[in-house]
Amino acid sequence: MTLPETGRPPGDVLRELRGFGDADPDYKHGRVWSLVYYLDEGYADFLAEAYKLYSSANGLNPTAFKSLKRFENEIIAAVADMLHGTEEVCGVVTSGGTESCLLAVKTYRDLARAKRGVRRPEMVLPETAHVAWFKASEYFGVKVRLVPRGDDFRLDVAKVARLVNRNTVMLLGSAPEYPNGLIDPIAALGEIAQKHGVPLHVDACVGGFIQPFMAMNGIELPPWDYRVPGVTSISADIHKYGFASKGASTITYRNLELLKHQMFVYQDWPGGVFASPALLGTRPGGAYAAAWAAMQYFGQTGYRDLAHRTILAFDRMKAGIAALPELRVFGDPKGPLLGYGSRDAAVDIYAVGDQMDARGWQINRLQFPEGLHAMVTAKHLESVEAYLVDLKAAVAAVKADPSLARQGSAATYGLMANIPLRGMVKSRVLDIFSNMYRAGGGDLDLSAHDAGPGAEAGAPSLAERIATWYVQRRRRRQR
Ligand SMILES: *Cc1c(COP(=O)(O)O)cnc(C)c1O
Repeated sequence: MTLPETGRPPGDVLRELRGFGDADPDYKHGRVWSLVYYLDEGYADFLAEAYKLYSSANGLNPTAFKSLKRFENEIIAAVADMLHGTEEVCGVVTSGGTESCLLAVKTYRDLARAKRGVRRPEMVLPETAHVAWFKASEYFGVKVRLVPRGDDFRLDVAKVARLVNRNTVMLLGSAPEYPNGLIDPIAALGEIAQKHGVPLHVDACVGGFIQPFMAMNGIELPPWDYRVPGVTSISADIHKYGFASKGASTITYRNLELLKHQMFVYQDWPGGVFASPALLGTRPGGAYAAAWAAMQYFGQTGYRDLAHRTILAFDRMKAGIAALPELRVFGDPKGPLLGYGSRDAAVDIYAVGDQMDARGWQINRLQFPEGLHAMVTAKHLESVEAYLVDLKAAVAAVKADPSLARQGSAATYGLMANIPLRGMVKSRVLDIFSNMYRAGGGDLDLSAHDAGPGAEAGAPSLAERIATWYVQRRRRRQR
């Protein structure tokens, strides 16, 4: 593939581009249980139109593009209000949840350094914290103190208190956490945060744009927003349950004194004095315009209606899974997402996942414990019954043929989850993943045979090779 020597007509280019999507998961009919927040074509066109209006505008320079600063101000003010913040709550629109989480870690690391001279920063994370927090730990050199869950999937707050020390720069709670959809005990975390004088961030990337409306609809939730005194910042994604185009999240802080530590200023650059509020340089005007448009389009009643339909679908799903004697829902999530696993030794949950794949569903896998995942949206109201019918059939198929657990991707996922040598898993996944990015790289399929240059036909799959390596190593140790 080279750049075409001469340009092509737009119609041609767009036709080919459309064709690329043919092999993508069918998210338009509620078959995908993660990653996508989609309503219908009319709404997608509306977002695209809003995006188009400002797709060339750049939020890097808010003094040049006053339009973008206006979207940003209005988005942040509305979010602060949704999260029950005071007038002092302020923040920034970011490109996504990951950017919001990374920024919180950077901010609190720098705050602790400035105020308390902390040189070996640490943060206390529940093990269910989104992977973005572990990424932040690596990127910004902030050590993770990990809090394990109890048997009931709940965070044990007493364990959090024991991990706080002089080097702690922040605590984290999620509302809700991604793997099982449970809201961490934010009020109790707030008390610990206040007692020790450390910031508490609430990761509401997934909950921020639905929980306020679930509450307005009369669903009782534990306190999780700025009404909890110890909470100092909250991340809330507009491109999840806010139904914006991809590329829009928010991070807000209780006051400007905190937000200041997020800012970057360099005064000696030959390119001019430079100030930037977030991670990105150029900031996508289109994404922020579409986010603003989404919030105006729905308003409180629109989001309440979405929340209502989402929780209807969620409740059906949760009840449907609980009605299957072989399965169990992890914890007691209130929505909109859940994890579930097997309670029957004869039913391997990853094999159930393979059976669901074969029936045209796209479902994420969990580990520790092994499970399947569902991020439920209003769209799923039209597919949840079909999902449950297939799930029942999938469970029956696995029960009838337990060898399915040793085939297909079930074997790989099982191995990945059960190998005690996590560094080994990491380095092998890194190898394969980076192969995707070598020039002309292929797809990532952990159960497939290694593709890429030099791969022999019939070479063992990654799963097989890890298994062989592991067994040999154990034998050597035993000798
Ligand atoms: C999705 C999510 C993130 C990361 O957001 P991205 O937009 O995918 O970068 C962080 N935390 C939680 C709880 C999430 O669900």
